[in-house]
Amino acid sequence: MIDVFPFSGYPVAVFGLGQSGVATSLALVKSQAEVWAWDDNEGARIRAAEEGVPLVNLYDCNWRDVTSLVLTPGVPLNYPEPHPLVKKAREAKCEIIGDIELLSRTQRWCSYIGVTGTNGKSTTTALLGHIMQIAGREAEVGGNLGIPALSLEPLGPAGTYILEMSSYQLDLTLSVTFDIAVFLNLSKDHLDRHGGMNGYVTAKRRIFKRQTKPRTAVIGVDDDLSCSIFDEMREANEQVVIGISGHQVVPGGVYVREGVLIDDTENSATPICNLHENPSLQGFHNGQNAAAAYAAAKTAGVAPHAIMACIQSYPGLVHRQEPLAVVDGITFVNDSKATNVDSAAKAIASYTDIFWIAGGTPKDTSLGAIEQELCHVHHAYLIGDAAMALSHSLAETVPFTLAGDLETATHLAFAAAREAVAERPVVLLSPACASFDQFENFEARGDAFRKIVEKLPGTHTDPFEGPWMYSETSNSRSGTESGGEKK
Ligand code: ADP
Repeated sequence: MIDVFPFSGYPVAVFGLGQSGVATSLALVKSQAEVWAWDDNEGARIRAAEEGVPLVNLYDCNWRDVTSLVLTPGVPLNYPEPHPLVKKAREAKCEIIGDIELLSRTQRWCSYIGVTGTNGKSTTTALLGHIMQIAGREAEVGGNLGIPALSLEPLGPAGTYILEMSSYQLDLTLSVTFDIAVFLNLSKDHLDRHGGMNGYVTAKRRIFKRQTKPRTAVIGVDDDLSCSIFDEMREANEQVVIGISGHQVVPGGVYVREGVLIDDTENSATPICNLHENPSLQGFHNGQNAAAAYAAAKTAGVAPHAIMACIQSYPGLVHRQEPLAVVDGITFVNDSKATNVDSAAKAIASYTDIFWIAGGTPKDTSLGAIEQELCHVHHAYLIGDAAMALSHSLAETVPFTLAGDLETATHLAFAAAREAVAERPVVLLSPACASFDQFENFEARGDAFRKIVEKLPGTHTDPFEGPWMYSETSNSRSGTESGGEKK
């Protein structure tokens, strides 16, 4: 736990008592701050009080006595409109910050690496943390991912905090200057919370704030917006700028071609490793994540051969294209986190012979990006409330079965995969839907899938032992893009 010593003796308000709000409150209490904590949800207040968090009704207190409001990132700061407590704090000229700001004010001697982007933040942060820790660095990994900032361990001057930074957290983090800032990609997301695309881009670009050389920006160039930010920052030449891509050549950068991670930062296009050899890093999107993690780790001083070994041993995150087992030659992949069509499309693009389990609580009305990947699907097994709607969308493109629930779907998919003439059969749970119709959350859905797979009859082998069932197009894009080059 972090000692938040600068706040000792001061009244600090904490609003939002989820995991990070409780961790913040307890760290502040331990550091002898006067904590006034609150949540609109009574259940959250009760749970926090049981853990020893002091409650004060922030709607009914003297805000002039409070120096800082530590806000949970889920609470609207400006859009669609500021939360009433944000307004009260502003009227009383009380600063509004997040838990990562507290971390950086206390652990000032450490290095900081921040990872942001619309997608891939958790994967890249976890991969980079894995590389740094296995390579023997004193490094802690957290933020939006896993451990809340103030529950991390304090580090010495050689230590590095590797932090997943959502746009909300960047809004609440005022004084960190990242030694390495990773900006993966940008697409429309959370626009209501940022007053439109400009507000979202502004929040994300805060990750580069105050960076001067030799501080480094690692920027994805695979979408137009990120690419223009890369061009602009290269031109401005304020920090070191490294371009990265999951599928196109980036001169002077780090990129993936035909599954091979290539380091051109010393203008020598050196092949580093074949991502096809790690089942947790399938798909060109994971190529982007691996390129970013490589560029950041190398900038932090980890030797390329050590990074290569760490990328190969990266175990992946649960519920995100997580290889569970190979049973009688059929690979089972848990991608329960894919609760929308865009995420599911990424997974489907990563394998060739797919027996696809999809459905749940419907979110998107059309198949969207999945449509162009359907050639990889042998048969779809549809479950939950969305099954009927999905079957209408799939009609005449892919054979499907209305399977009802996950257990039935898994058994049917396994039986069909065993019968099929397929080179690289994969039973993929990538639902493209939320889970709430049949499960508590996507984690419970993925855990249920794991249990069903564990009980399947047949010879079970470890998917990490290979041979891995990667798609020939995985980590490389077909068509014009695969021949592309970032100028
Ligand atoms: P985040 O933390 O930003 O939500 P995750 O690493 O948890 O991202 O990945 C969530 C989903 O986003 C994955 O299941 C995958 O479908 C998609 N994804 C992961 N990395 C990328 C990327 N670099 N570009 C686009 N989509 C990605």
